[in-house]
Order: sequence, then structure tokens, then C-alpha cells
Amino acid sequence: MQRSIIRATNLQLLQRRFFKKYHVRVRFAPSPTGHLHLGGLRTALYNYLFARSNNGTFILRIEDTDQTRTIPGAIEKIQDDLLWAGIISDENPIRGGPVSPYIQSSRLELYKEQVLKLLNNGSAYYCFCTERRLDLLRKEAMKCGQVPKYDNRCRHFTKDEVKEMIKKNLAYCIRFKISSTPEVFHDLVYGDVLHDITKSEGDPVIIKSDGYPTYHFANVIDDHFMEISHVLRGVEWQVSTPKHIMLYKAFGWDPPIYGHLPLIMNADGSKLSKRQGDIKIDSFRKQGIFPLALLNYVIGAGGGFHKEHDNQDLYTYEELIKQFDITKIKSSSGKLMPEKLLEFNKLEMANLLRNEKNHKFFIERIKKLVLKAFPEWKNDGNLQLDDDHIIKTFKWAQNRIATLNDLVKEDLAFLWIVPSCMPKQVKQDGCSDAIKLLNAELVEIDASNYKTDWMAPYLKDFAKKNGVPFAVLMKTLRSVMSGVNIGPPVAEMMEILGKDRTLLRLQRCVS
Ligand code: GLU
Repeated sequence: MQRSIIRATNLQLLQRRFFKKYHVRVRFAPSPTGHLHLGGLRTALYNYLFARSNNGTFILRIEDTDQTRTIPGAIEKIQDDLLWAGIISDENPIRGGPVSPYIQSSRLELYKEQVLKLLNNGSAYYCFCTERRLDLLRKEAMKCGQVPKYDNRCRHFTKDEVKEMIKKNLAYCIRFKISSTPEVFHDLVYGDVLHDITKSEGDPVIIKSDGYPTYHFANVIDDHFMEISHVLRGVEWQVSTPKHIMLYKAFGWDPPIYGHLPLIMNADGSKLSKRQGDIKIDSFRKQGIFPLALLNYVIGAGGGFHKEHDNQDLYTYEELIKQFDITKIKSSSGKLMPEKLLEFNKLEMANLLRNEKNHKFFIERIKKLVLKAFPEWKNDGNLQLDDDHIIKTFKWAQNRIATLNDLVKEDLAFLWIVPSCMPKQVKQDGCSDAIKLLNAELVEIDASNYKTDWMAPYLKDFAKKNGVPFAVLMKTLRSVMSGVNIGPPVAEMMEILGKDRTLLRLQRCVS
């Protein structure tokens, strides 16, 4: 395969094409063959931002013509992930729109009707080659060290021969005649691109023998009838673009403007799916990543914004739209910075928490998390889940956590559940009497004094007064209150738990 990519040097040409006068209509066109992942999310986001920043329309189209690879539930899941991410489409399968339907399997009639035009004008032809023949061709080419490709044999049948074979009920597909004189096309990201597809393939199938269109055909037909002005998609599709442009030409239609988005890589330059492990949007959701944090993370790889993202701050949705600039997308593969994801998430969590309107949402989310993490406590009256406690606790914990899920990890479980008491350990520490005494004193102390500033010196004095080594007393108190040996300072725990919860824990050990 020979491909030459010449970078755009002529800015005027770029601008002329970019600011074409018609209404911007872009689409995200996933195939429901799996979950939405980071690459797909970036494509959807950039289309969305391009539409919003040009007063255009953003369309979601489902490309499900390969029925054998369609996964049940994937269409719904992709739509749900996009909604979660705040990438809202104007026209889509659920909402509909002026060029409905937006699922390719419901548009089969259109493809059948359109292919007749190509058959009639001689740009397409019936192919009766059997799987066996195609297989032999492949094997033969491999043996001779050649690129395996279709030899275009059926191009040369006469009309009568074709009629005869159809009459005999021979199975057929429809192929498109590709041209061997490649033409340069302009890519908004990569500049001028020249790629001779005949070097790597024979005439491609556009309608399969089961009557379904192939991706290339349905994609072009839909982009045309949906009046797509710009196609922004992953660079892996760039090699197919000359074929798509040839189809447009065969129909006598104007092709859209193309821009291909470079690959996203890991920080070390390896392929994303390899090192990163799970790159499904669903996994980030399950980890407790917030949508805006994920979007800021993904734009860190590859540019596309006026102001270079400084990675210290989060862009809001408004800023993303305002700053988006397609001419700033880099054509080299972008690298993700994994350490940034949790930093962005912390920032977003703090932003969301600052706005009281979000508290109800957090209360619900945290309640669900806690109930899921500690199911055995569900029917125990001691689960600490009143709304005030949740928000107070969350505010206190926000600097110690990067995701909501961290709130129920072992070291912070004491915030929600009463740890099992350890009288044995208290005894071993030689603190039984001291704890009893402390409990008696604490009962008398006003709830308003359960503050770190007040409690810290008080506990120090208490240890001194009663001849208990301070460090030992703290260690014992920490395990009585939290069940773990390493954790926040005891006075802070008392503040966050408050008087009643603190006493409840002490008393369980005393008795
Ligand atoms: N259905 C293709 C995909 O799954 C869309 C490619 C395109 O945007 O043209 O990525």
C-alpha cells in the first residue's frame, strides 16, 4: 500500500474549505459492535464541539449493517454513555429528526434504491464469484507474495450474461468500480492526501449477497442524504476516504469535507487498548469518574483548542465549545496522561460539591454506594446515612479521595459503619481503664466541642493527666473508632463523626 500524506502548507486553501458557507452538519456514526471507548468518545466530542462552535447540527447515526457483529444492547448503551458524557445530539434514533431513521438497518430500502443508479450508469456491477473462487484467488496471491485482492473478473460480463446468471438464481453481490487514477483530497487535519486504493484492493463489495449494504456504501449514502457537511472521524478511516469520494463522484454528488483525528496512545507511545487496560467509558463510569473530568482527560491527547490546555484547570462545557478549533488538531498521535485523570476528577468533584444544587445528587449516589459496599449493614440501624452526615463527611473527605468510590474503601469505611469493637486489643494496649475514663468525660462534654481544634489539645491533656503514653492512647482510640491502624488524626475523626457516633463506638468497647 502506497500512501503519501502531504501536510497542508496553504492556509488559504484550508480556510476556504473550512469556512464553507453552508450549515454545518456533522455526525458520530458508531457501529454497535461493542462498548463506547476513549477513541469513540473523542470522535463524538469533537463532532459535537465542532457543531456547537459553528451553530451547526450534531447527529448520532447507528451503523449496524454488519448484523453478525452487532451486539444486543450496544445501541442503547452507546446512547446512554453519550448522554452521561453530556454529548447531546440534535438528531438521533430516539429523538428522530428531519432525515429519520437514524439506524442503518431501518434504511435498507434507500440503499437498494440508490445502488440501482450505479448499476444503471455503469459504476457498479453484479459479481457472481463464489466464496471458493475468492478463497483460491487469495491463496494464489499469498503464494506469489502479492497483495490478495479481487481480480475484478465480473466487471467484464455483458448485460445478457448477467441476465442469464440472475435467471439461474446464482447468488451475487454488487461491486463498485474503483478508479486507478488516484486524486488528492484535502484533509482538515492532515492536509493533502493521496492514496491509490487499487494497489491494495480490487473492486469493493457495496451490497452483500444477503442484500445488506457494506459500511462504505451505507456510510456514503447516509452522509449524502443526511446532508453531512464535514466528516470528522478516526484516522483509521482515512485509507477508505478515496473510495468514498469515488462513490460520491459516481453519483454526481459533492463529497463532504473530511478531517481525520489521529490515534490516541498511552504515555509511552504504546497502543491504547494494550497498556491502559480497560478503555471502555463504562469502566470509567464505574470507577466514579465524572464526565467533565473524562472529557478534559481525552482532549489532553492531540490538541484542537485555541488556548493550549494547561492541564491545571478544567474546561467547562462552555469553555470546551468556545476554545475548540479544528485547525489546532495535531496530526501526530496524541498521548494520554493517566496521572491527570484523577487530578481532573478531584477538581471536578470540588466544583460540583461547591454548588449546593448538586448535594441531592451526591446524597443519592453516596447512599447507593454505601449500601452496595456494606450490604450486611442494610438492616442494621447503625448505618450512618443521614443527609447532613453524608455531605459533611464528603466535604471533609474530598481532599483524601479522587473518586466517589474511594469513600467506601477500607480506610474510610468507618465513616459509614461502626467497626467491630476490639476489647482484646484495648486490653493489650493497656488502655481499658483510660478508655473507660475518657468515655465518662466525653459524655459530659458539649457536642459543640467535638471539633479538631478543641479535641486535639484536650486528648493530649487527658493522656498526660492519666499517665497514658499519648501515642498508645491515639493508636487505641484510632482502632476503636475506625477499625484500622492508619488513618486520619483521632481528633479529626471525632469531629467528623460527632458526639453521638463517637460515644457509641467508645461505649461498645467499654462495655
Ligand atoms: N461505523 C464507523 C465506525 O464504527 C464509522 C466510521 C465513520 O465515521 O465514517 O467507526
